[in-house]
Amino acid sequence: MVLNMNFNLSEENQLFLDTVRNICRKEIKPLSEKIDNEGSIPKELLDKLAKVKLIGITIPEKYGGMNGTVLQSAIAGMEIGRADISMATAVYYLLNAGWGKIFSKYGTEEAKEEVLTKVTDGKAFLGVASTETGGGSDLYAIKTVAKKEGSRYIVNGEKGFISGVTEARELGGGHLTIVKTDPSKRTKGMSLIYIPAQSPGISVQTYKNMGRMGISTGELTYDNVEVDEKYLLKGENDGYGLLIEGFMTARTLVSSACIGAAEEALEIGIEHLKKREAFGGPLARYEGLQFEMVELYTHIEMVKLMIYKAATLIDEYENGKKVDLKDINMAVSMVKLRAPEVAFDTFKKVMMWHGAMGYTKEAGLEKGLRGVTSYLVGAEGALNIMRLIIVRELLGRDYMPYK
Ligand SMILES: Cc1cc2nc3c(=O)[nH]c(=O)nc-3n(C[C@H](O)[C@H](O)[C@H](O)COP(=O)(O)OP(=O)(O)OC[C@H]3O[C@@H](n4cnc5c(N)ncnc54)[C@H](O)[C@@H]3O)c2cc1C
Repeated sequence: MVLNMNFNLSEENQLFLDTVRNICRKEIKPLSEKIDNEGSIPKELLDKLAKVKLIGITIPEKYGGMNGTVLQSAIAGMEIGRADISMATAVYYLLNAGWGKIFSKYGTEEAKEEVLTKVTDGKAFLGVASTETGGGSDLYAIKTVAKKEGSRYIVNGEKGFISGVTEARELGGGHLTIVKTDPSKRTKGMSLIYIPAQSPGISVQTYKNMGRMGISTGELTYDNVEVDEKYLLKGENDGYGLLIEGFMTARTLVSSACIGAAEEALEIGIEHLKKREAFGGPLARYEGLQFEMVELYTHIEMVKLMIYKAATLIDEYENGKKVDLKDINMAVSMVKLRAPEVAFDTFKKVMMWHGAMGYTKEAGLEKGLRGVTSYLVGAEGALNIMRLIIVRELLGRDYMPYK
């Protein structure tokens, strides 16, 4: 068998990467510290990113997006993660890109005209609400219900640990929300519906997170919230499949942001090893540290290549090429499993290379460690859930611990 593999980005995508890198270095990087300290992404930055089509990158041009591929979205995600290692800007970016793609594909024309045009303009936030305080990994157990009455759904329940609750409330926008429309069924009784955050009957409670301070996380409680049927994606009870499809892109982009942040940390670390002297020479001379550097670099490069693969498989699938969904599931789960760990290890090691200085805010590293930890503990899917997906694909459903 001859494998036809090209490991280089196309000329077009390399040019795209260089352009995005320059923009991120100029516009985002100088603000990263401020975003972490002040707890929000400046509105002017969102306006600038919207202008260069980096918000809602996957959304078609018709609604103001650039109709970017998942590979391009991952390339941009890496650069944004690099420029704001706290992850806040990357979270804003990847939620709008990942879930904007699902909205573009399955939303009604009326809803897309109304919502997506504002998202791409930086005037509305789009996120996802699937987790409930009673449990996140066990999606079957969600309790939020939506009952159809005339041309509206009446939503009751609560969601927890949802990113962007304040942004959607203040800026405008909302969340693609997974609800039960037929509670007697499991996955076949779920629907995905966009719920505008400013709808009457929604109350918000925010958490005090340890990291990614520039973007909020919190609970949404729905008390008889009326949602127009135009906001339903695809058909009633089709929601579970759409959510899983959305996670494919979102998890790929999360992984790209983590790897971008890890690359930035490693570059800072290498500079430090070359500059800092101990025992008559630079730290970079010591094999113990050289080997750590090699391990980190190797893992970053390997995961990056796997992200390109996951993104390319999704793009090929979207373009009608014969791609086995199993291969996409595996590739996406593998990158979401490894990228947060590689990023966490990189920050930890680079902080240690800095000695006492690594423990200070002045070193500029700890916000990265706090940010990527969100993806270790569960954001966009817990790591054991990634393992379970890989188990399912390797062994088959009969070997799953649950049906
Ligand atoms: C900062 C942050 C932002 C988030 N943003 C969003 C958002 O915007 N929208 C949204 O819907 N959700 C969001 N989440 C929630 C996230 O999706 C959940 O944390 C995740 O799905 C895990 O759910 P859980 O936290 O309830 O953990 P649990 O499901 O309670 O899991 C706890 C632990 O048990 C392990 N575990 C669970 N089941 C199994 C099993 N069968 N076998 C082995 N181990 C298992 C998990 O790996 C995990 O380590 C966010 C989370 C964080 C931390």
